[in-house]
Amino acid sequence: MAKLAINGGEPIRTKPFPTWPQLDPADIEAFESIYNSRRWGVGGTKVPEFAEQFATFQGAKYGVCVNSGTTALYVALKAAGVGPGDEVITTAYTFQATIVAILMTHAVPVFVDTAPDSFLIDATKVEDAITNKTKVILPVHIAGYPADLDTLVEIADKNDIKLIEDCAQAHGAEWRGKGVGSWGDFGCFSFQTSKNLCAGEGGIILTNDRELYERTWSIHNCGRTPPDAEFGNIEPFGTNFRMTEWQAAILLSRLTRLEAEANYRHMNMRWLDGWFGEIPGIKVTPLDPRATRGGCHGYKAILDSEEFEGISRNTFINAMRAEGIPLGYWYNTPMYRAAFLSSHLFGCDNDYNDVHCAETEKICQSGLALSQNVLLGNEEDMEDIIKSAAKIRRNVGELIERNT
Ligand SMILES: *Cc1c(COP(=O)(O)O)cnc(C)c1O
Repeated sequence: MAKLAINGGEPIRTKPFPTWPQLDPADIEAFESIYNSRRWGVGGTKVPEFAEQFATFQGAKYGVCVNSGTTALYVALKAAGVGPGDEVITTAYTFQATIVAILMTHAVPVFVDTAPDSFLIDATKVEDAITNKTKVILPVHIAGYPADLDTLVEIADKNDIKLIEDCAQAHGAEWRGKGVGSWGDFGCFSFQTSKNLCAGEGGIILTNDRELYERTWSIHNCGRTPPDAEFGNIEPFGTNFRMTEWQAAILLSRLTRLEAEANYRHMNMRWLDGWFGEIPGIKVTPLDPRATRGGCHGYKAILDSEEFEGISRNTFINAMRAEGIPLGYWYNTPMYRAAFLSSHLFGCDNDYNDVHCAETEKICQSGLALSQNVLLGNEEDMEDIIKSAAKIRRNVGELIERNT
């Protein structure tokens, strides 16, 4: 009988990994208190309270809660003054919402390659992409791995353009001891169900700048002036992107557990890096040494097919799944190939057919990912992941025949 589970052998594990979202009775109390208060939306206290607590948690001064991560990005771009024809420098290895938010302002996404063997924008290539139309640099801290914030902040300052961090996957991530989302002019987070801090839907924009805070607040709330305004009614344009009290109450409750969860996932990520690093053909992609904590929205690594006896990514993933490990990958198409781009560019005839980011294309083909709930597993769970990869490596001959 074949040894590998994919060939009919015994799988390493049949137990599920921790589910998400994790439940806690404290959340129900929070929810009930909102119900009984009759203040379910405007006029409640939980939204401003959460905005302040989460901003503090990430090391920023101000927070404006909104209804999604996508709208957080859109509002930040608007508050940064981005409009038709402006250019926004970003990465093609991201969730489509990053790009859609740019298109919603009628601006033009400009794609910079990812750094070699990383899933993150190559900060050393950003300056070459700056033109007189560039308004914003928009890096994405994919899976909670922070992009090179030192270099990005320096470039943004030097060229007088705004830096907006897409932190939708990076709750709790830290760069040199300080939270992501507090380094740029704006940090945008999502609280959609899959994210590491979640309430079904929701988002927040962080900033350290009083005037930008007021502009952001106004845009998210129908052009109104914030109750604690110092500058006054600076941006009459706005619409309704408000968060409800239900969401803020759940988020406040869950925020009390985020620090411990972030540290726990971080510990498991380090542990997996150590052991995966011993398996020929698996390339680990550790945090930048300046990133003092990963947001760990997922665990990331690379399959080096050549070093793994020519096994394709799909074959490896299927073999891991057969062993009981929910391995996958995230993005397999660079965003400059998104079909919606050409029909959503206004007043410019950018042709993305000629855009090629070699490293991004490589990572789209070779990236591996485990989702964040897996990183909440115990020691035995982590061992099963490594045992499965090691077993596949030992018996790779069985796979070569069925490789596709
Ligand atoms: C989830 C996500 C978003 C969008 O957040 P929503 O709350 O789903 O709108 C934006 N960018 C990235 C990188 C994301 O992962």
